[in-house]
Amino acid sequence: MMKKNQYDVIIVGAGPAGVGIGALFMQMGLKNFVILERDSIGSSFKKWPEEMRLLTPSFPGHGFGLLDLNAVMPATSPGYTFQTEHLSGEEYAEYLEAVAIHFKLPIEFGIDVFELEKLDDGFELKTNNGHYNAPYVVWAGGEFQYPDKEAFQGAELCLHNSEVTSWGEVDGDDFVVIGGYESAIDAAIHLIHYGKQVTVLAKGESWSDDNPDPSISLSPFTFDRLEEVMDSEDLILRGKSKVVKVEQIEDGYSIFLESGDVIFSPTRPILAIGFKNSLSLIFEHFYYDENNVIELSEKDESTVSEGLFLVGPQVRHQEVIFCFIYKFRQRFAVVAKEIYEKLGLELNEELFDYYRKSNMLLDDLSCCDNSCQC
Ligand SMILES: Cc1cc2nc3c(=O)[nH]c(=O)nc-3n(C[C@H](O)[C@H](O)[C@H](O)COP(=O)(O)OP(=O)(O)OC[C@H]3O[C@@H](n4cnc5c(N)ncnc54)[C@H](O)[C@@H]3O)c2cc1C
Repeated sequence: MMKKNQYDVIIVGAGPAGVGIGALFMQMGLKNFVILERDSIGSSFKKWPEEMRLLTPSFPGHGFGLLDLNAVMPATSPGYTFQTEHLSGEEYAEYLEAVAIHFKLPIEFGIDVFELEKLDDGFELKTNNGHYNAPYVVWAGGEFQYPDKEAFQGAELCLHNSEVTSWGEVDGDDFVVIGGYESAIDAAIHLIHYGKQVTVLAKGESWSDDNPDPSISLSPFTFDRLEEVMDSEDLILRGKSKVVKVEQIEDGYSIFLESGDVIFSPTRPILAIGFKNSLSLIFEHFYYDENNVIELSEKDESTVSEGLFLVGPQVRHQEVIFCFIYKFRQRFAVVAKEIYEKLGLELNEELFDYYRKSNMLLDDLSCCDNSCQC
């Protein structure tokens, strides 16, 4: 008799990664799998500050073989559904819900996965609802719900950008934003629009970086918006300003830079330096090299715990970073195919051809060289 909570495959998380690969499993006819979600579909997007928009534009090009950059399934387009180019977090979560409903995804809500244990015959997931078991686990827990508040001494005193409901609701008129990438610049732009004064302290100078990979430099959407406020007297962009410590003082905060300079902030410094990410929960199941880069097999399987696969923005293959939806969705089919074969099930090759034609199957990583010609 089959044990309670015993599946062939367990997916952790119902964000774009979990919903995308789950929908593919449904199309493939996989019967005995489940998605465990602690909250709701697309919950990270629902937690975005209300002013935030997807940086990647949506456009319904799928009829001509160019899938909407934010779609997680072929023949779908968030841009078409919402008739907008840059969706809000709420809208994108609604798109994911529509996909989940259409494919009748088997999602169990309110299940928080705490721990993963490798057994002889697969994995045991420890949750707030007891144990779940499966020979194959697809980790799709994302990054957003795991803010990094330990990056330097006093980081816990700061307000992490993922804790902000609306930039219009943060108290004060004068802000220091720590971080120089998308989240930090996004925060600065919205605060300026609300009439606040903002100093951005960044390690580098992303605003003058021309790297062709938007995982490294700012997106065109952010450059456009930054240009609008660049000449504002209320905005100071301070590059080469690595923060090493924050201290609370009587009338505000002292922010210590590596250079020895100390910056004063009358309000809680805003921390927009990124995320620890959900892999911190299952750290021991992956190998990280000396540069802290995760090591995955060619099929995005852990090289430490066989049977554990990673989908989502943390997927990396050396220099190739999959941190946008249009990047990591191309690995769903690679992972799903590998698991199907390991389960000894028959593959529907037509479906995979369709995925390839829809730009949803990237199994040749040498194609990703970011060689921008102009
Ligand atoms: C400021 C910002 C702007 C961005 N803009 C873009 C953009 O324009 N375009 C783009 O492509 N990407 C963008 N991204 C990145 C994008 O949001 C992420 O890549 C995407 O959310 C990752 O999807 P995911 O499914 O892996 O993770 P998530 O969307 O975080 O989903 C993970 C899900 O897993 C659940 N979960 C987590 N841990 C557990 C657990 N232990 N047990 C049970 N459930 C769990 C969560 O509740 C959540 O529903 C942006 C990110 C940020 C922070």
